[in-house]
Amino acid sequence: MSTSTGGWHADEDLLSRYVRGDAGPVAAASLEQHLLRCASCRDRIAAHVPVPLLDAAWERVRDEAVAGRPRRLERLLVRLGVPAPDALLVATAPSLRTSWLVGLVVTLVFVGLGAAYGGDRGLTFFLLVAPLVPVAGVAFAYGPDADPSHEAALATPYPATRLLLLRTAAVLAASLPPVLLAALLVPALSWTAVAWLLPALSLTAALLAASTWVRPTVTAAALGAGWTAAVTSASRAADPTAVLAPALLVAYAVLGCLALLVLALRSRSLTTLGSPS
Ligand SMILES: [Zn+2]
Repeated sequence: MSTSTGGWHADEDLLSRYVRGDAGPVAAASLEQHLLRCASCRDRIAAHVPVPLLDAAWERVRDEAVAGRPRRLERLLVRLGVPAPDALLVATAPSLRTSWLVGLVVTLVFVGLGAAYGGDRGLTFFLLVAPLVPVAGVAFAYGPDADPSHEAALATPYPATRLLLLRTAAVLAASLPPVLLAALLVPALSWTAVAWLLPALSLTAALLAASTWVRPTVTAAALGAGWTAAVTSASRAADPTAVLAPALLVAYAVLGCLALLVLALRSRSLTTLGSPS
């Protein structure tokens, strides 16, 4: 995340008008953008906010999150031992909503049929889509494109890395089994039915590491384009499964480990989100 603010900082008058709700929509939106990047202004705005108002703001964010959340998923997570605040934030991820999961299943039916009956072209399509399913799910589970929970994460000093990892785990748990099932039902796939998991996890790790710098949807689009280029060029060279050659599988594993290392080293920049430190 960039820390450059171009030298501009909000003055006390603007901060106080913003807190009272008198700043006007344009000034308020631009101040909010600035507050995301500027710890010093976040510190200063706290002095303008009466404590009951802060509580009210948190209540409002929570209500908005609750209004659109899948309660069943949240209850399930709590039953599995996930603490209630974590369960709420995980369950509000857009890519864990029923509509997203239904879309996923419909996609997989087509991909599975294509892989079963579509010959090499169907196989190419499967190899194209399967590893990108968890990547897309994670990209839309976190970050500014996944409102409103991102705001909830920013409005409180909730550790952003924790949210990121919890949602990633939830997305993988929700999206990998259906893809795996679809793959195992297609006899033509043989060992590639599981080998795609390695690039899938490696791309997801790369997405997490890159999301400490840029918004996850941008990274996901770039990774998707790269993977598509690799699969289509392998397919043109007569064998789409070349993207799962043993040497490449080792490379995916190494890249995935490197990405996790980067994420661990960079996670400090994520935890500063929403907290004045
Ligand atoms: Zn500032």
